Amino acid sequence: MGRLFLIDLEENFYSCKNCETPIALANHLLSRDYQCPYGRAYLFDKVVNVLDGEREEPIPGSNSTIIHLFCVQCQYIVGFIFVRRAVLENQRSMIILIRCLLTTSFGDTTKESLSLQG
Ligand SMILES: [Zn+2]
Repeated sequence: MGRLFLIDLEENFYSCKNCETPIALANHLLSRDYQCPYGRAYLFDKVVNVLDGEREEPIPGSNSTIIHLFCVQCQYIVGFIFVRRAVLENQRSMIILIRCLLTTSFGDTTKESLSLQG
């Protein structure tokens, strides 16, 4: 808990808007097509430098729950884990980060402009 991970900054990544701690690599972005009560949200398969909220909060009218995720550095909310329970053994969770609480950084601008041409 509370440990700060270092990630390869040569890649494009998303950071906490408040303190700019890297939270997720662009490579781990699965989908941009999410909406949450805070606005636009992105789905990731992996994030770093976040703390799980202690409470699992039920979503009214469903058998799913959410666990809030906080920046390990400044403790601001950056997203949540959405846990869907279809059957007890068949539990699926998704990591959602809230777009308006992130900033995007491009580690290597040369590589970025090359990939845009291709
Ligand atoms: Zn932060």
